[in-house]
Amino acid sequence: MVSAATRIERWPGLPGRLVLLAAATAVFAWIAIDLTRVAGSVSSVWIANGIVVGVLLFKTTRQWPWWIAAGWIGEFTARLLHGDALGMSIGNSLANVLEIVCVAGAIRRRVPDITDPSRLLRLAFTATASTLIACALSALIAVFNSAVGGHVSLGEVFLTWYTAHVIGMVIVATLMVVARREGRWIVGRRGRHLDYALCMGALLAVCAIVFTQERLPLLFLVFVPLMLVVFRHGFAGVVGATVVIAVLSGVATALETGPFALVESPSLLQRTLLLQLFITATCLLALPVATVLSERRRLAVRYRTLADHSRDLVVRMSADGAPSYVSPAIRHVLGYEPEEFLRARWDLVNPEDIPQASAAFQRIAETGISEPVTFRILHKDGQERWVEVAATRVESGDPDAPWELVASARDISKRMQALAALDESQSRLRAVADNMPALIVHIDADERYTFINAYYERLFGRKPDELLGRTIREARGEEAYREWAPFIHRALDGEEQKFERDPSASSAGRYLQSHFVPDVAPDGSNRGFYALTFDITPLKQAEQALAKLARVDALTGLGNRRQFDERLEQAIARSRRQSSPLVLMSLDLDKFKAINDTHGHLAGDAVLQAFAGRLTACVRDVDVVARLGGDEFVVLIEDARTAQVAELIAQKILTVVRPPVVFEGVHLQMGTSIGIAFVAQAASANALIALADKALYEAKSAGRNTWRVIED
Ligand code: GH3
Ligand code: MG
Repeated sequence: MVSAATRIERWPGLPGRLVLLAAATAVFAWIAIDLTRVAGSVSSVWIANGIVVGVLLFKTTRQWPWWIAAGWIGEFTARLLHGDALGMSIGNSLANVLEIVCVAGAIRRRVPDITDPSRLLRLAFTATASTLIACALSALIAVFNSAVGGHVSLGEVFLTWYTAHVIGMVIVATLMVVARREGRWIVGRRGRHLDYALCMGALLAVCAIVFTQERLPLLFLVFVPLMLVVFRHGFAGVVGATVVIAVLSGVATALETGPFALVESPSLLQRTLLLQLFITATCLLALPVATVLSERRRLAVRYRTLADHSRDLVVRMSADGAPSYVSPAIRHVLGYEPEEFLRARWDLVNPEDIPQASAAFQRIAETGISEPVTFRILHKDGQERWVEVAATRVESGDPDAPWELVASARDISKRMQALAALDESQSRLRAVADNMPALIVHIDADERYTFINAYYERLFGRKPDELLGRTIREARGEEAYREWAPFIHRALDGEEQKFERDPSASSAGRYLQSHFVPDVAPDGSNRGFYALTFDITPLKQAEQALAKLARVDALTGLGNRRQFDERLEQAIARSRRQSSPLVLMSLDLDKFKAINDTHGHLAGDAVLQAFAGRLTACVRDVDVVARLGGDEFVVLIEDARTAQVAELIAQKILTVVRPPVVFEGVHLQMGTSIGIAFVAQAASANALIALADKALYEAKSAGRNTWRVIED
């Protein structure tokens, strides 16, 4: 292909082609001048200039001087050969050069790309205007030349030159441009040369009959084969037919035969003008018809090409979706031959999808509103494919079924597979999220719930749907929103948040711990946040139990030293605030070691437990009873107004302690010594303890099983 094209390009080479143009202009100029001379100085059509302009329009402006020179040499040579005077030959041929340069120059300037279809009107206008002006200029020069040459009828010279040149320029330049633009070979399209030759033969025969007689006005007969040629061969036909008609009518008129000779005693000028009118009429008839035909063919070819070569299927179907045309793309989309597919109609569509697809096509046909229709269809390979059809309603031209659908369809199986995979992965994620032992929520930038996992139902006993689409404030109430607002705002500002909530109505009576994690879009903007909320109630309960354990004596269930220390500090603070007295009793079992030693440690433990129980029974709930370790106990009393009240309690303790403790059938006797510190206002915990210990020491020293009071 490339080498052939290059060869065509090379042959005959620029010099050769210049010579060809010179020869062509020489021949056409010679014929025109010769006919003029035979007929008596008037030329009917001057086509040499049209040829040169037609060539120039397809050359770069830089090459123009060569082509113009070739054209000029051809014409000048023809004139000399014809025996014209040298001055006249130079003058007239230069007038033609001027005409050529004006027309070609104006077109090149205003329409640099004459093949651009959008500039067609501008091209036509520029070509016409420049032709009319340039031919007038060249005619004036010709008149001047004739005047110098001694010619008398200058008006005739102007008129004939002008019309001959205008017609020649319009016909030839237009035809050359059109022929080059359309890319049509001058003797018909490929494979239609015989038809072209037959049509031309018919035209030639009719022209021969019409122009070789001078008895009947048969000019109208010419239009019959002319239309035949134009309809069958478009621009190629116009080019050939116009040349045939112009040449034959020109020759006949010059030889004073043909229908124009019917005009009674016509002058040469009249005959010539008639001839020119006739040629103009043939052009006016043939060119628009050819243009319309060519445009229609071009569009038809383009659209058929589009449909035939598109990777997408193009389908024409009745309003109910039954196909009447399918483009060849069906072969690679579904593997069928178009005819095979058309025969199958709905048989290939998955029966499950037919109702909705058919309804959708009917909707489109009724409303004219397009919507994508998707369904599964059987491929020739036996597997189903998903196709998406975009249908448009068009008029069918049939009164019974006024609408048809034109649709493009494409295989969207891959997209559907991807969607199915996405769907699967989403439901997998959903399942993971729903089974997480945590509340997972997504809140968008407008503070609306967009996602809530199933844990919500477990926590609150209600469906999560009640929150979806609502704002936090709407869904959870003003009070809860106020509590969370600072965390929400900071999370929406891109800051991660973590906080805990104590049991409340909004927390379903649970301890909850929430993490707000900002949801940042790839472009850096904030789309909201994820809220991950864990129920930490069991953790909190364990923590609380531990804390309690750490403050309790395991053997007796009383408070231990830690609890006592804490409560003593609180009591001292209260005593200071309220200026109220405080009583601290320090108790130590008497001769307890002996019980251990005699009856064993377990017996000792039983005594300690019994003592703790009896001690607690002697005081009120608000009083603090604690075991500090070993056989040491304390009682803290806050509302004893006087020391005597404390002594009464001590007496009561000694009384309840007296009965023996029975352990494994053995009666164990226990007793206790009590040191009482009574202070109007405690200086410090240590001081108070020291005071009570001192009193205890005194009680022990006094022989045990008694109490001593120290007041301060
Ligand atoms: P005193 O009248 O002077 O208080 O004589 P005591 O025998 O009670 O002597 P002390 O108070 O010093 O002895 C306390 C004893 O308590 C010593 C230790 O063996 C015993 N003990 C300490 N903790 C426990 C315990 O948890 N269980 C038992 N069974 N005995 C304990
Ligand atoms: Mg003791």
